[in-house]
Amino acid sequence: MKRKSRRIAPGWQWRRIWFAMLLLCAGFDALHAQELSGAWREVRPGDTPEQVISEFREGHLLPFSPSRLQLFPTQRDGAWVVLQMQPPYIADDRVLHVDTPPAGAVSFYPGGRAPVRMAMDDFSNVVHGHGRLAFAFTAGQRAADPILLKFEPARSMPAPVTFRMQSWPDYLDTDAGWLVFATSCFAVMLAMAAMALCFALMLRDMLFAWYAGYLICYVLIQATQTGFIYHPLELQFLSGLGAVIAGATVAVSVSFAAIFLLRFAEIRQYVPLLRVPILALAFGMPLVALARLTGIEALMSSSQLLTGPLLILGSALLLLASVIAAVRGSRYAWFFLVGWTPLLALTSLRAIQVSGLLADAFWLSDAPLVAGAFEAVVLSVGLADRALILRRDRDRAQVLADNDALTGVLNRRAWNEGADALLASSPPRPLSVLFLDLDHFKELNDCQGHAAGDRALIAVADALRAELRPGDLLGRYGGEEFVALLDGVDADNAVHVAVRLCRRVHRLELNVGTSGNLLTVSIGVAMRNASDSVDDLIERADAAMYAAKLAGRNRVMLETQLRPGANRRRPTTQRTAQSE
Ligand code: GH3
Ligand code: MG
Ligand code: MG
Repeated sequence: MKRKSRRIAPGWQWRRIWFAMLLLCAGFDALHAQELSGAWREVRPGDTPEQVISEFREGHLLPFSPSRLQLFPTQRDGAWVVLQMQPPYIADDRVLHVDTPPAGAVSFYPGGRAPVRMAMDDFSNVVHGHGRLAFAFTAGQRAADPILLKFEPARSMPAPVTFRMQSWPDYLDTDAGWLVFATSCFAVMLAMAAMALCFALMLRDMLFAWYAGYLICYVLIQATQTGFIYHPLELQFLSGLGAVIAGATVAVSVSFAAIFLLRFAEIRQYVPLLRVPILALAFGMPLVALARLTGIEALMSSSQLLTGPLLILGSALLLLASVIAAVRGSRYAWFFLVGWTPLLALTSLRAIQVSGLLADAFWLSDAPLVAGAFEAVVLSVGLADRALILRRDRDRAQVLADNDALTGVLNRRAWNEGADALLASSPPRPLSVLFLDLDHFKELNDCQGHAAGDRALIAVADALRAELRPGDLLGRYGGEEFVALLDGVDADNAVHVAVRLCRRVHRLELNVGTSGNLLTVSIGVAMRNASDSVDDLIERADAAMYAAKLAGRNRVMLETQLRPGANRRRPTTQRTAQSE
């Protein structure tokens, strides 16, 4: 018998995915965690683990809630932390994890055995968390015993941490969820950076390179801070270099961001006063970071002193510049603000957290990754928008460069280029060139003024354009001279077209002088020979036009030097056709 399969409505599936994401973001997976209580104190010289545990039992340590963010001072000798599971216990194999990863190492003191030391850039332990430190406990270890941890001294600023004890399946869920989340954010940023690098190379536009540089630095900062470069990337050779990488990439990322903003938001045009301070920031930040690597104590300490204030001042400067530029009309300053402000806001909130506030905002530790991915997408859209507008401007400039300003038909240079291209196309097709010269145009100018002459030229150009096919190449060759190249047209048809043009101009009924004469045109027609260049064709068509003038104007003259037998139906080598 067939079993009826239970179908889940697609809407319900989406709701489940949303719910899972919400749980992840809000840190609700703590619901699966064992309840812990905790207490701590700073390490004093001569401390023993047994003594700390007995102080804990006697209630002499400072109590804290391990599920809330807590800061432990590690700049001097470090801090002791004692955690105690609350019943009902997880008696099976279990994992204690410390989120977010502290900058220094954390040691676990199992009673009577050597301590287990764990750090983000540590590769000796079999079990290692991702974006967190993880200590494995076996079912054999008594769940009710206090857990003694020591936060080892570290030079860098401590970050607030939380503690969770989970069963292995729950822990693996949490860990895998974070891995998927972090990998997706990094993938978005790196994809945008790779795309920007390709554009920088293909378009020879350094703006894309500054943007890619900034993104790559930001990825490195986040990958170092979260420990992603160590686990899961396993880049063992970077072990111990976390502080150096973070210091250097923060400085370089500020430089890239500053140079990028300068060009992207057109600071020179919109906020010229802030251009020099931004340039100073762009070049000063890496110098300060370099000073830390010199090994000279005075330089190193002043670099350490300067970095924090410079970062705050620099961020304020970039924010101020982009706000002013946006208010003054820079379209791309808005993109920068929308993309960058969430990141800046989160960084500020993280700084507040370091002072002990916002202890329940767990999401803040992972939020910079989402903000980084968001910024990458927003700025990429901004760059795409900029490329689109640049292309539109270039197309407009091309039209202006190729077209005659008065009549709108091709100018001489553009017509020559178009004719050259058509002549070069293979297989060779019949081509004819019509050379048109308005009759007695000087008289029109003299009698009715130059403005009337201009209007007449515009009317003639419009009439010619309307009469020709869209594919025919019409250009203004000189003052009152036009040229047309008809592709794939034999001599008979070329003459027919030319006669039509003659009639059309005459039908415009533009007075030439005061005697009632109407404006007419004389046209010379030349047919392409195998070895002809554009100049050859023009020369012969011009000569034919001149012959038409001599023959009385307002007529068409086909060139006399045609190839023998090229057109058997042509009755004479020289034929005139009057438009009326
Ligand atoms: P022909 O029948 O022999 O061609 O006589 P024409 O008067 O047309 O020839 P000519 O070469 O003596 O005069 C051409 C005139 O075209 C002279 C010049 O003032 C006028 N012209 C050239 N370019 C422009 C222009 O852009 N606007 C106006 N209004 N007139 C122009
Ligand atoms: Mg002329
Ligand atoms: Mg003329």
